[in-house]
Amino acid sequence: MDRAVIFSIAFCILVVLVVPSVLVRGCDFGVEPREEAAGPTLKVFVVATGKLVEMPLEEYVRGVVAAEMPASFGTEALKAQAVAARTFAVKRMKQFGGAGCAAHPGADVCTDHVHCQAWISDGELRKRLSYLEYYTYARKIAGAVEATAGKIVTYQGKPIEAYYHAASGGSTDNSEDVWSTAIPYLRAVATEFEAREPRFEQRLELTVDELEKKLGVKLRQKKVTTYKVAGKDVQVVAEERMDRPIEVLSASRAGRVKDIRVGDRVFSGYSLREILGLRSTKLTYQVVGDKVYFTTTGYGHGVGMSQYGAQAMAQAGKSYVDILKHYYRGTEVIASTGLAAR
Ligand SMILES: [Zn+2]
Repeated sequence: MDRAVIFSIAFCILVVLVVPSVLVRGCDFGVEPREEAAGPTLKVFVVATGKLVEMPLEEYVRGVVAAEMPASFGTEALKAQAVAARTFAVKRMKQFGGAGCAAHPGADVCTDHVHCQAWISDGELRKRLSYLEYYTYARKIAGAVEATAGKIVTYQGKPIEAYYHAASGGSTDNSEDVWSTAIPYLRAVATEFEAREPRFEQRLELTVDELEKKLGVKLRQKKVTTYKVAGKDVQVVAEERMDRPIEVLSASRAGRVKDIRVGDRVFSGYSLREILGLRSTKLTYQVVGDKVYFTTTGYGHGVGMSQYGAQAMAQAGKSYVDILKHYYRGTEVIASTGLAAR
């Protein structure tokens, strides 16, 4: 082969393969997890690996923001999420008097999003995203965490239970209307910002048979009709649909179902949501012929910060402190001494 051709091929290989990889590696320097300076560490039970891992609080917060909120959200929304995630952890950390994760002894928190908060490692984030996305989003997340390093939300000087959910469907709820405990700063908020969230409307269609099977209920009842035949009473037993097969027994002010009767059984809104895989308990239903339709709005339990509401506020020019104080009533956002990693 001609030398010039070989040289051209070698040059192409250099340009196409080697140079971009050097560039990409060079870019990585800005987003590699860096050495954390002094700051508290916590024990995290990582559900994906089944291992208990000790890590700096700020590194944990980065992993929670990466797992819990789309990194495409506004910076102020990501900062609010970082502070909420940090506060949630600090409230549970044993070294600050917390009780730890109740489901995993020895851990301060676990990575089960239903129980504590979702969390992903930097390596996992890298796997989920393209090079370009990783470069952009890992920096953005790290920036939001660093800009709020050590900051937590407090009520009367103590870290709060910083619950949050994806979308409120127009209004959040008082904690006692969804769970049993009244927490003074977890109040219903319904403002223009919640109205700007996506509604996350979901419609679930089931046949009456399917619903009966899934819930282990009967939507039909026996009806006994007595006829007079040749002077004698003859009883005919038939099954027919209940007049009111479904009935909401109690609901929150914002319309989240607390108790609902389906056929011959009563369910909490929470367990109905779990069994049917509904996005929220803010639901309406319709029974038409042989079909049952459930329509839900919002996504999640509806208490505390709405993440899509936080994004709506960020887009309206609000700061992360505005966002946190809106969703956690009567609270302060403070820089807690000894928490900052740098
Ligand atoms: Zn947990």
